[in-house]
Amino acid sequence: MGDASPQDILIRGGQIAAIGHFAIPKDALRLDAGGRTLLPGFIDSHVHLQLSDARQCLRGGTTTVRDLGWTPGVILGRRSALRVSGPDLLAAGGILCPPGGYPSRAGWCPADTAVQVGTPAQAEQAVAAMQASGASIIKVSLPFPQLPEVVRQAHRRGLKVTAHLGGLEELDQALAAGVDELAHFTFSSVRVPEDRIQWMVAHKVAVCPTLHIGASAQRLDNLGRFVKAGGTVLYGTDLGNYGPPPGIDVQELQLMQRAGMTPRQVLDSATSVPARWMGLKDRGAIRVGLRADLILVNGDPLRDLSCLAPPWKVFYGGDEVGQK
Ligand SMILES: [Zn+2]
Repeated sequence: MGDASPQDILIRGGQIAAIGHFAIPKDALRLDAGGRTLLPGFIDSHVHLQLSDARQCLRGGTTTVRDLGWTPGVILGRRSALRVSGPDLLAAGGILCPPGGYPSRAGWCPADTAVQVGTPAQAEQAVAAMQASGASIIKVSLPFPQLPEVVRQAHRRGLKVTAHLGGLEELDQALAAGVDELAHFTFSSVRVPEDRIQWMVAHKVAVCPTLHIGASAQRLDNLGRFVKAGGTVLYGTDLGNYGPPPGIDVQELQLMQRAGMTPRQVLDSATSVPARWMGLKDRGAIRVGLRADLILVNGDPLRDLSCLAPPWKVFYGGDEVGQK
């Protein structure tokens, strides 16, 4: 990206096998991508895949998704099957909340998506159950009296915690409890004071902005100041719930740019940054040995992010994703 020097890339065994100058194997299928830009497949850090179309998501250039809330037995159980057809799925499973809390009565999700936690013992039990089912993160919703214990139990087990929260009071509760991430920054359109932003950056609390589901000047301003302070941003769409159609959401990316992120920062928030944040060492960049989860787009996204959708071609584990 950005530099115009054309390069050859060899994909073999689902991985990037060589980049630059190498002897092209005689039996290799060749693809001329002249004038186009190759990028890592996108990582969407906030989806509800059961409410969307996984195949369209993959075709649209999103090769890894992290699901932030569905019936644990369904979304975690489907993990292995979806790994084959893609996109690669990481999931929180249920959303831990207080008895009667969000989303236990929300229309969009099955009742057992809400894992209700009213005591410290239930906190331990719920976190352990999610981890045993294969959860890669713990999702919580606020307000939540047992949140400090949930966070303690998650961290003990090496799991991060992402929080759905509305306003400032809940933000303060979440930060005091030690959550690692905000699943929206923030769900409501309140001004996040500078001292909270500085605190979040200092304590490495990441945010998933999800601007498109509720773009306001205030939410853009919050993100702009967070980025300027050096905060970690994870691209996420809330796909399936409030979110946009499946695949790369250019509007979300453009809103992030409008908030003050450079195109490079925007692209990083959907590739290298979430890969690092989620401990996925095999993706998020174009390097020899990494998964060949790749997209080819018509144009240069550093000049114009709109060229990212739809991608010209998508490769998932080295295989070209069909357009049918
Ligand atoms: Zn969501």
